[in-house]
Amino acid sequence: MKIRSAEIVVSAVNRDQYPNEGIPEIAFVGRSNVGKSSSINSLLNRRQFARVSQTPGKTRTINFYLINKEFYFVDLPGYGYAKVSKTEKASWGKIMERYLSRRKELCNIFLLVDIRHEPTNDDKAMYDWIKYYGYDCTIVATKADKISRGKYQKHLSIIRKKLGLSDEKIIPVSSLKKTGFDDLWNEIINIYTE
Ligand code: GDP
Repeated sequence: MKIRSAEIVVSAVNRDQYPNEGIPEIAFVGRSNVGKSSSINSLLNRRQFARVSQTPGKTRTINFYLINKEFYFVDLPGYGYAKVSKTEKASWGKIMERYLSRRKELCNIFLLVDIRHEPTNDDKAMYDWIKYYGYDCTIVATKADKISRGKYQKHLSIIRKKLGLSDEKIIPVSSLKKTGFDDLWNEIINIYTE
């Protein structure tokens, strides 16, 4: 995919700040530190577009990135950072619910999990939430450079089992080695041209 333009349109907290032109959206979500910003930057071939987090768990806005003036990447706040207070967790929940509860523009949610580890209970809860709201979901297994290719299948089946996936795809990526992003782009093109 040729990226002709990528611009941050809004960092939103409330619904009235969301874009309202009816442009299709693909959302990215995952545990803090899973490699979400790095993956968005790799997809866009930019270095510092999505901010790689210095303080995990501190991003509490929904960022809308307009790509080629055709579709949005929606960068949802990460979850599962241990040092977050109850109040902050509640505010995360509200921000997420506001977006997920009725977003007709939203075509697919990319749930990012670390390829090395069994998904956490938070990951499982996030996946169940996505399904509860009725959205399509694609799993992105990050940091694939950390394991050998021969071990991919074993790790992917652990992820599939813990999340209780049905026919969802799992796409391994590495921002360090820049692998897997062509597959992810093919998925994105399939989704928003459907
Ligand atoms: P976010 O909090 O989910 O946005 O995660 P970041 O993109 O900020 O990445 C968290 C940490 O993981 C940073 O130290 C990154 O350098 C590292 N990281 C991200 N992607 C990869 C990857 O593909 N491979 C490796 N080895 N490290 C990664």
